[in-house]
Formats: sequence, structure tokens, C-alpha cells
Amino acid sequence: MTEDDIVATVGKHMAAQFPRKCPNCGRTYATVQDYLRITTPVGQVISDDVTEGNWRPTKPLGALAFSNCPCGDTLAMSTNGLPLATTWAIMDWLRRTIAERGVEPQAVVEELRTRIRAELLAN
Ligand SMILES: [Zn+2]
Repeated sequence: MTEDDIVATVGKHMAAQFPRKCPNCGRTYATVQDYLRITTPVGQVISDDVTEGNWRPTKPLGALAFSNCPCGDTLAMSTNGLPLATTWAIMDWLRRTIAERGVEPQAVVEELRTRIRAELLAN
């Protein structure tokens, strides 16, 4: 997979998780675009598989990205549910890219989050 493939695949996976509702205030986010426009990103992406260097997880913990609903509740988007083969292809890309760029794993993961957000908002 290339970086563009990952952005497209994970973006599609995120979009498929809508509509969804804030369990606290009941606001409905009809589309991922609504969600990205209305909520505020908070914290870092958490990817325990990447942090632990577990590049071939048989039970992936997945990556979690958090955003705050205007009511103050924190909502999470997850990569859980991606096919295992896709997850492994993404892990391969991450491992390679982290080594090639000589950067912290978190930096690559955050860059992906930024690109996926931008890509979804452009559609
Ligand atoms: Zn809410």
C-alpha cells in the first residue's frame, strides 16, 4: 500500500461509521464530514500496536483518534474492523516509513490523521 492508498482506505472506513450519535447529548452526526467540521480534535492518536512495535498483530488493538463534541464529551474514531490483511499492509508501510524518515512513529501516525481529515473534508 502507498500512503495515498492508506489515506483513501482508512478514510472510507471512517466514513462507513456514520451516522453516529453522541451518547452524552444525543447530537447526530450524519456524515464523517459533519463530525470533522463540528467536533474538535483532542490529544494524540493512540496506536498501541505501533507503540509496541507489534507489526503483525493477530488481534490488532487498532488506532484511536479522539475529538470533543460541543457538549464536552470525547468521542473516538477507530480503525477497528479493518480486514487483517489491510491492517498488516498499513503496518508494513508504517514500519518502512518510520525507518526511512528516521522519525518517531507518532509523527507518522499524526501525519496520516491530518491527511485523512483533509481528504475527507475535501469530499
Ligand atoms: Zn455531545
